[in-house]
Amino acid sequence: MDTLLKVEDLKVHFPVKKGLFSKTAGYVHAVDGVSLTLEKGETLGIVGESGCGKTTTGMAILRLEEPTGGRVLFQGQDVGQMTRTERLALRQEMQIIFQDPYSSLNPRMTLDRILGDPMRIHGLYDTPQEIRDRVDYLLEKVGLTPEQGVRYPHEFSGGQRQRIGIARALALNPQVIIGDEPVSALDVSIQAQIINLLLDLQDEFGLSYIIISHDLAVVEYLCDRIAVMYLGKIVETAPYRAIYTDPRHPYTQALLSAVPVPDPDVARTRTILGGDVPSPIHPPSGCRFHPRCPSRMEICDQAEPEMRETEDGHWVACHLYG
Ligand code: SF4
Repeated sequence: MDTLLKVEDLKVHFPVKKGLFSKTAGYVHAVDGVSLTLEKGETLGIVGESGCGKTTTGMAILRLEEPTGGRVLFQGQDVGQMTRTERLALRQEMQIIFQDPYSSLNPRMTLDRILGDPMRIHGLYDTPQEIRDRVDYLLEKVGLTPEQGVRYPHEFSGGQRQRIGIARALALNPQVIIGDEPVSALDVSIQAQIINLLLDLQDEFGLSYIIISHDLAVVEYLCDRIAVMYLGKIVETAPYRAIYTDPRHPYTQALLSAVPVPDPDVARTRTILGGDVPSPIHPPSGCRFHPRCPSRMEICDQAEPEMRETEDGHWVACHLYG
């Protein structure tokens, strides 16, 4: 395997003042020791409830959020040690598709400029005609037409705007694209089209994806491997099939129990999690999931479970597997 991206013990802690959210000053432990890898041509899903730190993890990998600890290695090179010029080159290699196709496109720019300006800024092509040809090519690749290049984002539907967002992510010929809830703002019928488009583009351009989603049903269609996050930490990582057929962490089991099963003969017991997600300012001791866990044991609030490989490629952080 060819590892493109390696994330080691990544941390993003935001300082908070004493007041509305906390009686004392402290830190929001948004991302708290995340380690993961992304292989070339692979799609890794990061799933979890809102506020679990999955989007902040994506932002920190892209350096749109500065980590407070840990390392991100792109093709073996530590991103934190890169010079400004090297970071600019890295921007080319890693791109993002945002959740909201409405607010993520500049309303005052035509499609031609939204796609062409990054190519100009990065000096990708020698002549305006080459940029023109590349913009037309990308528009066609995402199911739009070159003639639509003179139009503005507000003239398009939500699904078309997400296609524009995808074309923009492709403009600099990246190797890695991080999709932050790339289909969750779209109608269900449009979601399938965008998922298929992402799969086709991956085949054609040899892309590697990190797909961030709260929805296990979405990542099922896209991902080779899935990492489940809870309160700033990864609690389970496994090939996607193992996550769906043999989820091991009680949190993954609860998340999965909420996903509808299309086959009426297959029954799934719904696990309702008790309590709210605890504060990331004062995360629970031991296993962070222990206040809500139906399988909680005595040790669980005392010792933090280590990530262990329970089977080939199936990693779980839970004392049940200690
Ligand atoms: Fe539940 Fe304990 Fe496992 Fe945490 S370590 S998920 S509390 S059984």
